[in-house]
Amino acid sequence: MQGDIDRILYHETTILSRLDEMAHTIAKDYEGKELTVVSILNGSFIFMADLLRRIPLPLQIDSWSVSSYHGTKSKGRIEFRQNSIADVTGRHVLILDDILDSGLTLRAIKDRLAAESGAASIRSCVLLRKKLQREAATVADYVGFEIPDEFVVGYGLDYNEQYRNLPYIGVLNEEAIRRHAR
Ligand code: 5GP
Ligand code: MG
Repeated sequence: MQGDIDRILYHETTILSRLDEMAHTIAKDYEGKELTVVSILNGSFIFMADLLRRIPLPLQIDSWSVSSYHGTKSKGRIEFRQNSIADVTGRHVLILDDILDSGLTLRAIKDRLAAESGAASIRSCVLLRKKLQREAATVADYVGFEIPDEFVVGYGLDYNEQYRNLPYIGVLNEEAIRRHAR
């Protein structure tokens, strides 16, 4: 797996110290509020586990399975794989996603929550944000790292379901992209 990575962007220790800072900010912002974290699977499972253990507040969790990507290009539309969502009426919702690219995924999730949930507030938190013109003007309220417009894997992020278990975030090389293409 290591040989499929062109270069490592963030080692685990770097990610975890950034999560310490993010968790500190989030804990201050949500102190005294009823918080529900909605995490977007599969990509955010490691991010969620590491971030939430650093937030010393009472909170509830709901996980949504959503897909928008096929290979290394966004399909431009997203699919929800579940019909019902947790009751967050009057609660403050923080959406966690792995990476903000075009912004379509986050926009669709926010729209669904705004329309169906009765949440007191809806904010979003992403580990990575690509520096590019975003199709949907979705703003993430909390961002771990700004990255160049390259396809990255590891620390939860996949390429056709491979590489999620890499402990770091790295840029996948062209040869590996071809080899795992489908
Ligand atoms: P958006 O809807 O913002 O274009 O896409 C967001 C979703 O696409 C993310 O939740 C993630 O699953 C996937 N994605 C976007 N960029 C990358 C990337 O560089 N690597 C991986 N592995 N997934 C990505
Ligand atoms: Mg995702």
